[in-house]
Amino acid sequence: MKILAIGRNYAEHIAELKNETPDEPVIFFKPDTALLKNNDPFYYPDYTQDIHHEVELILRISKEGKNISSQFAPKYYDAIGLGIDFTARDLQTKAKNKGLPWTLAKGFNGSAPVSEFLPLSDFPDLKNINFKLLVNGAEKQVGNSSMMLNTFDDMIAYMSRFITLKKGDIIFTGTPKGVGPVQIGDRLEGFIEDKKLLDFEIK
Ligand code: MG
Repeated sequence: MKILAIGRNYAEHIAELKNETPDEPVIFFKPDTALLKNNDPFYYPDYTQDIHHEVELILRISKEGKNISSQFAPKYYDAIGLGIDFTARDLQTKAKNKGLPWTLAKGFNGSAPVSEFLPLSDFPDLKNINFKLLVNGAEKQVGNSSMMLNTFDDMIAYMSRFITLKKGDIIFTGTPKGVGPVQIGDRLEGFIEDKKLLDFEIK
């Protein structure tokens, strides 16, 4: 399986990192070895001093497809969960400044904690899903899917023009504002609506 992610998909997050709003969606990969499941702890690696949390809604692809039109995209995912797009911001900033890829800044081991998935039938309106992240009990990020610049269906249409999506692939759909560093000892708790889906520690 693969993990595809979209960057810069919430206007207020683009502003907080002083990035430009892209003309085309910004797409990147994480390898399957980035996955962290079952609320296992995340072990802070030694090659970065500035890992940021980015809480994101994630989609589970349920059917193989390429060149999927936005109109038919809903037939290609069957569940939604919550993920953290851990980002080594120091490595990413260095890469960005040199115009180099984000691969290591985004794809390191454990950089994609994911929750269990909830069936689409749990969501009455995909354009109005509330989610949030608490760090040590304090609310750090609050988002709603209505704030996305590219909808779930639009990003699937865009990604699948270039890259065939396969059953079991996961899509990270972008982070709202409020990203910030995590430290060893922190507890991260993530919610979709009132349901706690993520609860793990940084070690
Ligand atoms: Mg992200």
